[in-house]
Parts: sequence; C-alpha cells; structure tokens
Amino acid sequence: MQWLTDEPIGSATAAVRPGNVAELVRLADFASARGVPLYVRGGGSSVTGASIPSGGVVVDTASLDQILDLDETNRTVTVQAGVKLSALESKLNEKRLTLSQFPQSFELATVGGFVSTLGTGQYSTLYGGIEDSVLRLEVVLPTGEVIWTRKRGAPRSSVGPDLSRLFLGAEGAFGIVSAAELKVRRLPGHVWKAAFSFPDFAAAVNAARGLLELDVRPAVCRAYNELESQFQFDEKKSALLLVYHFRSEGVLKAVRGEVAALLEEGSTPADPGLVDAWLEKRFNFREQMDSMKKLGYAVETMEVAARWSRLLELYYEAVDALGGVPGVGGVGAHVSHLYDQGACLYFTVLFQPKEETYRIMWDRMAKVAKSHDATISHHHGVGMLKMVYAKDEVPLQVLARIKQAVDPNRTMSPGRLYGGGAGARPAQTS
Ligand SMILES: Cc1cc2nc3c(=O)[nH]c(=O)nc-3n(C[C@H](O)[C@H](O)[C@H](O)COP(=O)(O)OP(=O)(O)OC[C@H]3O[C@@H](n4cnc5c(N)ncnc54)[C@H](O)[C@@H]3O)c2cc1C
Repeated sequence: MQWLTDEPIGSATAAVRPGNVAELVRLADFASARGVPLYVRGGGSSVTGASIPSGGVVVDTASLDQILDLDETNRTVTVQAGVKLSALESKLNEKRLTLSQFPQSFELATVGGFVSTLGTGQYSTLYGGIEDSVLRLEVVLPTGEVIWTRKRGAPRSSVGPDLSRLFLGAEGAFGIVSAAELKVRRLPGHVWKAAFSFPDFAAAVNAARGLLELDVRPAVCRAYNELESQFQFDEKKSALLLVYHFRSEGVLKAVRGEVAALLEEGSTPADPGLVDAWLEKRFNFREQMDSMKKLGYAVETMEVAARWSRLLELYYEAVDALGGVPGVGGVGAHVSHLYDQGACLYFTVLFQPKEETYRIMWDRMAKVAKSHDATISHHHGVGMLKMVYAKDEVPLQVLARIKQAVDPNRTMSPGRLYGGGAGARPAQTS
C-alpha cells in the first residue's frame, strides 16, 4: 500500500463522520493496522492549516454533538468533542451558566478543536484559556484504547501529572479527543462597561498593565493602536475598552471608583457605547474581511505573546518590519489577553494578496518575535503555517519520544509538528 502522506496537501482519500466512541476505536484500529494517516477535523476554523489533511482519512467530529451531562451543583458539563462552542454556551445560558470561552470563531469552533489548539477567548483576562476550563478529557488513543485523563470526581488531584495537558494543543497528534468534562460558572449578575482614550498605544498598554494590579480583574481589556482605533471606532486616539463582571453591585461601585482613579491621569473617558459596538460585532469577522477585499487587500492576523518588559519594543519593531514589506497597506494592533507576566499582541495586517508578500510578512514577524523571546503563537496553534517558526519553542525531541510511545504506527496527523515533522514519514509500500 502506498503511504498516503505523499498525496498533495489538502487532499484525502476518504472522509468519515463517526457517531460514537466505538466507531472512533474501530477507525483507530483500522488506521493503525494499515498505516493509514488520520487527520481530525472539528469546525475547520483553524487559521494555520491545522485541519487540512495531507492524504489519508479525515475524521470529521460533527456527529459527536451531544451534551452528555450538566451538573449544576458541581458546576461541570461533559460534552462530546464535536459540539460547537456557541451551541454549548446557549445550552448553559438556559441554566444561567456559562463556559466563558468566546473566541472570535465562537460560531465555528468545536470543543475538540478548541482543546486541541489551546484556544482562548475574548474574556481570557479574567477566566483564562481553555486549559483553565478543562477538568478532564476522554481520548481515543491511536492504538485504539479509550482513556479519561483522570478519574471523575475530585476538583483537583495530585495523583501524577495532569495528562490532559498532553492533548491540550496537540492538534490531534496524540489521539482523538472524543469528550471533555469542563468547568462552568454562573453568569455575572452585574456588568460594568467603560472606555477610555489615550494619546498613544504605549500609554493605553501601560494603563492596562496597571489595571491588573487591582483586586478585581477585567473580563475584557482591549487596548487598540491608533490605526485600529480609527478603523474600529473612528477614534484618532488609542482606545481602551473594559468589561468587568461582578456578583454584587457594591463591589462594582468600589471597582469603578478605583479604575477611574487609576486612569484619571493620562486618559479621558470615552463613550461606553464603543464597548457595545464592539460586543455587537465581535464575532462578525466577515464584514471586516469583505470591506478590505473591496479595497484590494487580504487580511492576516498574527498573535504573539511576550513579557511586559519586551511588549512595546516588540510592537514598534513589528510595525516597522511589517510596514516595510512591499504590498502591506497597514498594520493594526491590539492587546487583548493580559496576564500578570505579559500579554498577547494581536496584529491585523492588510496586504495585497501575493504569496511572496505573505511569506515575507511571516518571516519578519517571526524574527522580531524571536528577538524578544515572544511566542509565535499565543492561541492559533501551529498547523502547517507556523511549523518552521515553532520548532525551537518546545523540546521536540521529547515530544517525538512521547509520540513514538502513544502512536507507534504514526497514524495521527503525520507530517505536522507533533505528528512527526514535515516529510518525516517516508513513502513505503506493503
Ligand atoms: C475568524 C476567526 C477567528 C478566530 N478567533 C480565534 C480566537 O479568538 N481564539 C482562538 O483561540 N482561536 C481563534 N481562531 C482559530 C480557530 O477558531 C481555533 O483554533 C479553534 O479552536 C479551532 O477549532 P475547530 O473546531 O474549528 O478545529 P479545526 O480547525 O477543525 O482543527 C484544529 C486542529 O485541532 C485538531 N482537532 C480538532 N478536533 C479534534 C479532536 N476532537 N481531537 C483531536 N484533535 C482535534 C485538528 O486536527 C487540527 O489540528 C479563529 C479562527 C477564525 C477563522
């Protein structure tokens, strides 16, 4: 048999849609016995080419679409991997619960895909990324065994390493995530929205960092550079948008006072309607893309993350490096996922759609990011796009040994970073 990884990228011999774990097991056994590559596909919303096959069989999780258990007392939900984040959130909201994970691709991404790319949402500054929501995962290993990464019940356990972490961000290379038990919380009783204007992006970013020192963190904290403020809100100055979640009105009032006092110097209050405008459009990426298309531009997004001490230098250098690429028409940026140690810088680059321009943009971004010890991927994963840049960010030799142990026939996502590296699998016949 010809190994199917020699087939061109984007083609597959078959696509299957398993409806339960037993079918996934049969598939894994079949693939492993015959050396057939499997590429899992959730919502197909990866922006790095992660869900594009290179031959073999595409495993579509769309029929794994059941919410298996909702436990209101212990605030957990157990869902199959193909459930869309938006469908899950709607179900939870009926009980006044929330997962609090809102990527811009909320209506496209599945639980399995979000877990497998280590995704994060717009409320991450308070609630964290998907890694903070996962209690345990059910995985069909390439060898056909079905495991839960830990036993059900305890809210935390120190029995061994947390195996879920092996599958969070693995992009399907270590097995097929078939279900997940996730933490849920009550919807906030009180929401406070506010917007502020700063003379420049650096001032807005520094103010955002200062906000993390207060007792209560914002759920949403977005600082926009001047170009993006202009584009999104018709604001010439740098905008800072805040959304706080509270249980009690008393805490809301206290925090509102503290935030106002902290931002009093160096900023002016802006129309809180800017926050409503953003909330309304936050999942509507198509409109933005279409308006750029009319101007002859394609849009690429680049999400790097660095420590606070390097973030602004990285920003200035990246804007210069990207802005200097022939064919680039503008570089917007915002900071939107904040941590005590640093933040994610999210660039939106308008460029004339030529492959050469695209490649130079990414090469330059990767060089700038590396020089500031930043990661090339804060939440979009690696896929095919970032393999070459991501190689020196993780101990690949150790991951390769783990891969060999869990997937001895290397059937899961071959040709990808954790699946064996580009072209690592030789063509063979049997
Ligand atoms: C407009 C737009 C906005 C976006 N905004 C965000 C954002 O705000 N935050 C963010 O984190 N991401 C964002 N993304 C990226 C993308 O939506 C995420 O990476 C998402 O988590 C992918 O989920 P999916 O179900 O579409 O997975 P897919 O694209 O189908 O797959 C992604 C990877 O996961 C693997 N995979 C999928 N399901 C499983 C499974 N059950 N078991 C094992 N492996 C699996 C696939 O093999 C592939 O490697 C955005 C994408 C778009 C197009």
